[in-house]
Amino acid sequence: MQIRTFALSAAIAQVATLVAADASAYWKSFTSQVDPKNITVPSIEQTASIDPAQECVYYNPETSLFTFKASEWPSIWEVATTNGMNETTEFLNLYNSIDWTKAPNITVRTLDGDGNLDTTGYDSTKDPDCWWSATTCTTPKISDVNEDISRCPEPETWGLTYDDGPNCSHNAFYDYLQEKKLKASMFYIGSNVVDWPYGAMRGVLDGHHIASHTWSHPQMTTKTNQEVLAEFYYTQKAIKLATGLTPRYWRPPYGDVDDRVRWIASQLGLTAVIWNLDTDDWSAGVTTTVEAVEQSYADFITMGTNGTFANSGNIVLTHEINNETMSLAVENLPKIISAYKQVIDVATCYNISYPYFEDFEWTNVLNGTKSNASGSATISGSDASASNVATPAAKVNASTSGAMSLIPNLVMASVFIAALLL
Ligand SMILES: [Zn+2]
Repeated sequence: MQIRTFALSAAIAQVATLVAADASAYWKSFTSQVDPKNITVPSIEQTASIDPAQECVYYNPETSLFTFKASEWPSIWEVATTNGMNETTEFLNLYNSIDWTKAPNITVRTLDGDGNLDTTGYDSTKDPDCWWSATTCTTPKISDVNEDISRCPEPETWGLTYDDGPNCSHNAFYDYLQEKKLKASMFYIGSNVVDWPYGAMRGVLDGHHIASHTWSHPQMTTKTNQEVLAEFYYTQKAIKLATGLTPRYWRPPYGDVDDRVRWIASQLGLTAVIWNLDTDDWSAGVTTTVEAVEQSYADFITMGTNGTFANSGNIVLTHEINNETMSLAVENLPKIISAYKQVIDVATCYNISYPYFEDFEWTNVLNGTKSNASGSATISGSDASASNVATPAAKVNASTSGAMSLIPNLVMASVFIAALLL
């Protein structure tokens, strides 16, 4: 009897071990027709128009590169548990392999009537959940979760990041970054990746650092554990499908993350990348003026030479989204390059050798033989090190309520695309 009990316990222990191992290796079951070390992106139509309505021209990806069966994925631009995706065997296996009894007991947040996060009743002074939207907290209050990245450690460094891609018609912008030998961290939305897989392929081909920006761009703290897991999981799977790579980094839409969401991200090996400067570029001509965003850029450029970043650098929130945000980038990047010692992606500035789960070493990307992947995008700027006046903390200029108003455009585009796909 004793032996049997022991054998049974051992068997259970073994199963538990296997399950745990499966959870951490979830990405190994993903498939892709793309070799990230040998990408050829078919040429596609593009537009230089600033009219968002003309921005996207749908293309059918070559089936030798990308095969997408809509029935096997969440609905585009809807929470990732849609289309029965919370009940698939693969998702349930993943969900059940996680020990949810260890998850922090943190309430699921709600939105108010205007679609903004409701922080009523949250103790922002104590900030028990390290809820960024309430306090801009980036250092978790619990152990065993990955701490956020929010600035490049090197002085006088601009951490270059673009959110909300990929898109069908951003070739001109990617051409520009290539011409300037700039590498950025690109935070891709899963729904956009499956709509515009060539954009994601090009991101990898050009040597950009690709990371996750969730499946449907929700305020993640308002989603249940299951929904949060699905938003991460299907985005990982989509980026792998389009590029052959599975990211280790993600950016919370609107910066909305707390220790519950961090804990779930950590189960999938994901670390959040926030920012310490926000251009609010998405709002130009939407909820504010282009001039106001130009002023933010000007202020941040000045910080490159006035000692603000004498001890450590920044990470700046900017967007691909549309030609307005991309035009602002193209206009300001030369000035940024002049004002800062380095303009680099987050994987480079944080010295991350493997920003993906696959064997794809980052220094090889940066030092690769491709003509477009030469050097580390380190560009010498004016000498600002003379200033000893260090501002301890960068100006935190983060909006949490903002980008909502852009979403209808994206939703409209995706509805249009969905109609085409059907
Ligand atoms: Zn976003």
